[in-house]
Amino acid sequence: MGMAAYGNELSTAQAIVSTVVDALPPDAPKVLEVRVRIGVLTGIVPEALVRAYDLAARETPLADSALHVERAPVVIHCPQCDADRLLAGTADLCCPVCGTRSDDVRDGKDMEILSLVLDD
Ligand SMILES: [Zn+2]
Repeated sequence: MGMAAYGNELSTAQAIVSTVVDALPPDAPKVLEVRVRIGVLTGIVPEALVRAYDLAARETPLADSALHVERAPVVIHCPQCDADRLLAGTADLCCPVCGTRSDDVRDGKDMEILSLVLDD
C-alpha cells in the first residue's frame, strides 16, 4: 500500500473525527460507533479507513469508538432512459439498460456521516 493511498484514507478519517467531535455537546454520552457511507468512486478502501480512523481518533472523545463503513454503489442518471440506474461496478459509467454513457453521477462519489451509536 502506497503512502498516497494511505494519506487519502487518513485525511478522510481525520475529517470524520473532527466533524463528529465538533458536533458533540460537552456532556454527550460516550460514542460507541460512528456509521459512515462511502461511495465506491472515492477509491477509499474501507479496511484502510477503519485502521486510519483508529489512529485519527486517538486522544479524542472517539478514542474507543468503532467506525462502521457502508459502501455506496454508483448511480448514474441516464439521459436516454431519463432514469437513475444502479451500476454493478465502477469500470465504466454506462447505462445497464441501453448502454448510453453518462457522467451524471447521482450517488457513489461522496462520503457522509450517517449516524452515531451512543452509550446509554
Ligand atoms: Zn439508459
